[in-house]
Amino acid sequence: MARKIGSRYTANQILGRGSAGTVWLGEGPEGPVAIKLLREDLASDQELVGRFVQERTALLGLEHPNVVSVRDLVVDGNDLALVMDLVRGTDLRTRLDRDRRLAPEAAVAIVADVADGLAAAHAAGVVHRDVKPENVLLDMQGPLGPGGSHPALLTDFGVAKLIDSPRRTRATKIIGTPDYLAPEIVEGLPPRAAVDIYALATVLYELLAGFTPFGGGHPGAVLRRHVTETVAPLPGIPDELWQLIVQCLAKAPASRLRASELGVRLRELLPMLAGMPPLDVDEPDAEPTEEEAPVAAEEAPAGERVRRRGAVPLVPGAKPADSNRDTHTSMRVPGPDELAGGARGTARVPRPTGAPRPGSARHRATARRRRVALGAAAVALVAAAGVGAWLATSDDDAGATPQDTNNTAPATP
Ligand code: ADP
Ligand code: MG
Repeated sequence: MARKIGSRYTANQILGRGSAGTVWLGEGPEGPVAIKLLREDLASDQELVGRFVQERTALLGLEHPNVVSVRDLVVDGNDLALVMDLVRGTDLRTRLDRDRRLAPEAAVAIVADVADGLAAAHAAGVVHRDVKPENVLLDMQGPLGPGGSHPALLTDFGVAKLIDSPRRTRATKIIGTPDYLAPEIVEGLPPRAAVDIYALATVLYELLAGFTPFGGGHPGAVLRRHVTETVAPLPGIPDELWQLIVQCLAKAPASRLRASELGVRLRELLPMLAGMPPLDVDEPDAEPTEEEAPVAAEEAPAGERVRRRGAVPLVPGAKPADSNRDTHTSMRVPGPDELAGGARGTARVPRPTGAPRPGSARHRATARRRRVALGAAAVALVAAAGVGAWLATSDDDAGATPQDTNNTAPATP
């Protein structure tokens, strides 16, 4: 199974699969390494090649204990590989899938680590732009930290961007992960460091709650919530911690904390959180709320209920496939006008365990009476679906396209 990568490295065993290829446990002149190998069939995909080069470029000169270092870029025949420091452990998504929710102390310790890594990246002028649990690695061989957490390292700078580097806008992909998208990106502003803070606060909320604050339902609805809704409080969360989350999920980027300060403030909370069990909250319903989808909620077959997290198709029926595969940076997002149609309000409110479930018989009876009045909401849903279809086909560079994606990738027809 071993294979040579360039003249200096051997790939021995698969560690994980990402969007563009496979990450291998490998061996180099200086010992074990992780090797991210671009899939052969994708070697001709200029955009993906661009991502690899981009990751290398973004990380040049960035050394930090909470950032996975890239050591080498190997170009050898058809092989294109990034050689990275090996992290022996798991990614945060795997951990979350296993535990569903983390105890606040561990969650905060992990997020404080990532904040420190982000602070180093931001100081080097790099915005990560794809902060999500899949891109946080937990080093199981590192020393145990608060709450029994392992050191966390930020990885996958494949779509990272040097702050203020020239924008190239182009929309190509239709699959995305809208859960972590800052509202200013939805509104078409260039992504600055504060988008990473918003995404990281979303991760923190998710580690505590087991679901993201604005996720769920149609991607168009998720994008709209980022812009128009306030985050619903988590029952039982200590107020100081909640205030930090709220501040970092602020709609206005300038109101969010900087990464370095977030790291400090989170660590200050650790003693207070020691020994606290995971929060006892229930996820809001997976299907669209009656307000969002009075018809669809009733008529969609159970099997077609929307996925809650990870990659979601921006076109109904498209394959959600690999949550790593593509990110917000490769989709054209609608502007605020295009997203208008939902009332401002609070995101789906988590319930303490045992509280009556929205969508229960009692809840539905009231909802049915309200349905007539909700015709307008149905129109909004249709508009959202239209946005999805439009995301699929849009390939223009007009105005609101924030993604500038891979600076190195030449345009393909
Ligand atoms: P992609 O750019 O394709 O999303 P990632 O860099 O996110 O790829 O890596 C995909 C997966 O491979 C990760 O989720 C993780 O499980 C594993 N992995 C990535 N980098 C490392 C590393 N340096 N050490 C160990 N495992 C890694
Ligand atoms: Mg990734």
